[in-house]
Amino acid sequence: MTPLRIDANRAEGTLRVEWADGHVTAYDAATLRWLCPCAYCRGEAGMPGWLDTNPTLTAEQTRLVDLSIVGNYALQPLWGDGHHTGYYTYMLLRDRCPCDECSRDRDRRHEAHASSPGSPATGAGDRHWHGGDR
Ligand SMILES: [Zn+2]
Repeated sequence: MTPLRIDANRAEGTLRVEWADGHVTAYDAATLRWLCPCAYCRGEAGMPGWLDTNPTLTAEQTRLVDLSIVGNYALQPLWGDGHHTGYYTYMLLRDRCPCDECSRDRDRRHEAHASSPGSPATGAGDRHWHGGDR
């Protein structure tokens, strides 16, 4: 969970993180803004946060102005509207990685949790016992 390289491109509004295991995570600013983990956006003590009200984000609110590194565990973006209270831990950034591979992993975890009865086992050719001549 250690970034080797962190690239914030303010012009394009993207954040790219290269991890020690070779994985690359790329966020666009809007996606990143929606992940803001601060108490205001996420709520606290059981209260819903601002992002939970499904607000329409303005261009300013999703404009990545600056990015600070907090200790050795998190990034703190500064947004065009002045919001800067979100500490995005490396764990969060990696866990919510929007790449295809990680999205699939999340879906799989989701399915495992949902355990919907009757849905046929997907993919994975582990049931080809009645001959497969294609
Ligand atoms: Zn926030």
